[in-house]
Amino acid sequence: MSPLIDTQFDGHVHTRLCNHAEGEMEDYVRAAIERGLRTMCFLEHLETEINYQPSCWLEDETFVEYFAEGARLKEHYQDQIEIRLGVEMGFNPLAVEATQARLQHFPIERIGLSCHFHLYEGRHLNLLSRRRQSLDILAELGPDQVLSTYLDTLTVAVATVNCDVLCHLDAALRHLPGISFNAEHKIQIGHLLDTVKTQETALEINTSGFDYRGSAFPAPWIITEALKRDIPLQAGSDAHRPQDVGRYFQDLPDYLEPLRPA
Ligand SMILES: [Zn+2]
Ligand SMILES: [Zn+2]
Repeated sequence: MSPLIDTQFDGHVHTRLCNHAEGEMEDYVRAAIERGLRTMCFLEHLETEINYQPSCWLEDETFVEYFAEGARLKEHYQDQIEIRLGVEMGFNPLAVEATQARLQHFPIERIGLSCHFHLYEGRHLNLLSRRRQSLDILAELGPDQVLSTYLDTLTVAVATVNCDVLCHLDAALRHLPGISFNAEHKIQIGHLLDTVKTQETALEINTSGFDYRGSAFPAPWIITEALKRDIPLQAGSDAHRPQDVGRYFQDLPDYLEPLRPA
């Protein structure tokens, strides 16, 4: 049987440029080489028209710096590792055209799609944050409704944006205790995966989940549903510190094998 995932490719690496990670781009490259990776892809946060503070993404002028330094590193380390420069594009349904316009300015080699924010009364709440300023209001709005909106938004995003990989499928509200999907959410996830398949997008297996909850994102049953549809899986460490590049990748083959559909 063919391997389910390439463990020598880390497709999701951040840098200090996003304001909530530590380490220079070069520190991450060195860490990836030490891990024995063949390819690494930086996937820096790109958000458009998001009303949230503090900003946890790169503005265009920082992206200029990012792509310039990335080009230097690609060349400098070309004999040791393949480096790719991508963005983790936060989908904002109210800023689709503005986002597309920004994407065209940069030599982007890979787009990971995510949706970190929930619009509420003219401002954005962070669905993936553990900060109380967002979580308390999201809890009040009703987690079921928030999750339902999240899954619908991701489905529209995958259908709208020409992206390479879907990130964070089930990471919304991950810091809200006791969060779970109801029957309706599960139907929505099936529909989302159908769209991922139609659009020929890959699904990210995000190994930051091993640190958050002892298993990768998304949940095992979602991975099985993706495999039933023949959706390719791509590993991402979501490293926000150099030492997290390629985290738990050595465990992925054994972790994924039992999830193969019968
Ligand atoms: Zn981040
Ligand atoms: Zn990320």
